[in-house]
Amino acid sequence: MGKTKEIIDLTEKYGARNYHPLPIVISKAEGVWVEDPEGNRYIDMLSAYSAVNQGHRHPKIIQALKDQADRITLTSRAFHNDQLGPFYEKVTAMTKKNMILPMNTGAEAVETAVKAVRRWAYRVKGVEKNQAEIIVCEENFHGRTMTAVSLSSNEEYKADFGPMLPGIKVIPYGDAQALKDAITPSTAAFIFEPIQGEAGINMPPEGFLKEAYDICKDNNVLYVADEIQAGLGRSGKLFACDWENVEPDMYILGKALGGGVMPISVVCANDDVLGVFEPGSHGSTFGGNPLACAVSVASLEVIEEEGLVERSLKLGNYFMDELRKIDNPKIKEVRGKGLFIGVELTEPARSYCEELKELGLLCKETHENVIRFAPPLVISEEDLDWALERIRKVLSA
Ligand code: PLP
Repeated sequence: MGKTKEIIDLTEKYGARNYHPLPIVISKAEGVWVEDPEGNRYIDMLSAYSAVNQGHRHPKIIQALKDQADRITLTSRAFHNDQLGPFYEKVTAMTKKNMILPMNTGAEAVETAVKAVRRWAYRVKGVEKNQAEIIVCEENFHGRTMTAVSLSSNEEYKADFGPMLPGIKVIPYGDAQALKDAITPSTAAFIFEPIQGEAGINMPPEGFLKEAYDICKDNNVLYVADEIQAGLGRSGKLFACDWENVEPDMYILGKALGGGVMPISVVCANDDVLGVFEPGSHGSTFGGNPLACAVSVASLEVIEEEGLVERSLKLGNYFMDELRKIDNPKIKEVRGKGLFIGVELTEPARSYCEELKELGLLCKETHENVIRFAPPLVISEEDLDWALERIRKVLSA
């Protein structure tokens, strides 16, 4: 194995420059701890953007991977496989939705959701051909495919990738009146993140999720929650929409659904919505593959068996309280829910992340001025205190 510099040089020699990683190579990991090729250990406070909520290489998930790899990994959907049904059963039990459409990445699931709500608009709601509209929020992040960037309000995400998908309306995040005003008889859906992750752990004003739900219900508009990052325990509830006790018409899930081991994503809704797909109208070669399904069932069981949702809430409250005690005028706000926490600074956050890395803590800035802290939900109190000690050192004035 090459050393850190050689590995980074090789990667940068051939790779398209669409990322700007911290200068660290991770070559091994277990639980909340990762290691570089020189044997230095770091605590992971990013969790691969919340894809490893269950911790790195959780033994139960790795066992499910190995067991399934010894049987069958891919059939395509040309044939049935014996893991898809049990996977559907598990996801329907958790989401209380009776129909599931499996894909691989988050952005693909968002694509799927957009196709589903448009079809629903034409075939169920009766919107005029090719007139369907979708309402989204400023600063949203739904992925990087053409559909996902078409939903974005961020010009940098769209620059020179046009033309964008038409039929998208953008409202300020958390503005119920703007949602009401944006709805027309052609509106198919309101697609939103209950907590905006990439935008800097932004939460809508209290009451908005419910108010928006009521507005959507009153206007026959689908209420579609992108819980790819905020869902599956990250916010201290199973779904971030649970904070206001609303049950969306559609959930979009990904990331931790595969336990940080396999990419797997889903769109979940009832059959009055997802029933709009017939054979040939949508699909994916790897979507619903038995390896990912087996891994996902184990990943969801870990969330339940280890009480990760409750753990996220309890440790998140403690973590946030401690962060709020740090006295530094450069800290503008500490915000979040569960172990989904943003520390907004009055200046760029990158140098703080680099300093924390030197002390053995990995995190990443988001939206320039925000440090995101989102450790695996399996983190122990002891490890959290270890992290806090380093954070205090770097963030204290
Ligand atoms: N939606 C949300 C809310 C996300 O946070 C992300 C990824 O960060 C995506 C969609 C896209 O997921 P993926 O990167 O798996 O395509």
